[in-house]
Amino acid sequence: MHMPETLKDPKKIAIMLLKATALPDEQVFMELAAPKYTTVDYYRMACHMLFECQRCGKCCTSGDPIRLRPEDAAALAKHLKIPLNKAIKKYTIPDPEKPGALDFKHTKPCKFYDVSATGCKLYAARPWSCRIFPFLGIYGSDEQVIVNKSCPGSMKTMEILTAALKEVRAKMEFSAPGLTEVRQNKELLRAVLESV
Ligand code: SF4
Ligand code: SF4
Repeated sequence: MHMPETLKDPKKIAIMLLKATALPDEQVFMELAAPKYTTVDYYRMACHMLFECQRCGKCCTSGDPIRLRPEDAAALAKHLKIPLNKAIKKYTIPDPEKPGALDFKHTKPCKFYDVSATGCKLYAARPWSCRIFPFLGIYGSDEQVIVNKSCPGSMKTMEILTAALKEVRAKMEFSAPGLTEVRQNKELLRAVLESV
């Protein structure tokens, strides 16, 4: 994802995050259709904003389970231009830990990993779990950000964000925002999530 340089500044992102989480979504997005995100979700979004993938390929070759939601399986079938039942049979297995869920069948490496290009052949249709990697967790819940330790850069991202938040708070560089400002900052972070 390409971000303007100003939005790669950890302090600016920390201020954005503090403003975005000054009020809960329930008080800001009155539209029924707007998804409700938790404070933890906004931390994940800020991490995505700071994160820079090193294209090491570990996440696509390590063998960790890669879960597919029903819509991911449908997107896979559409991308491959094959019927859904064929895509499920050929590329997935039942998730041993979650009844009814599916995992990719091949993960060492993933069937869709392009070794020569160190990239994903399925990029536009890759599953949600690949999109939100390495800052995993269930969106809409208070489940903490799960950082994948096998991913170089992800731990660093958390360190940078934590340090920036500490600095901003210590120097009182953050003033309580009004409703409009909270909404604007939430929308900036939400745009990051929508573009991963
Ligand atoms: S493990 Fe992390 S740094 Fe490596 S390719 Fe995956 S997301 Fe990028
Ligand atoms: S679908 Fe793409 S991003 Fe996801 S594990 Fe496979 S190669 Fe990697």
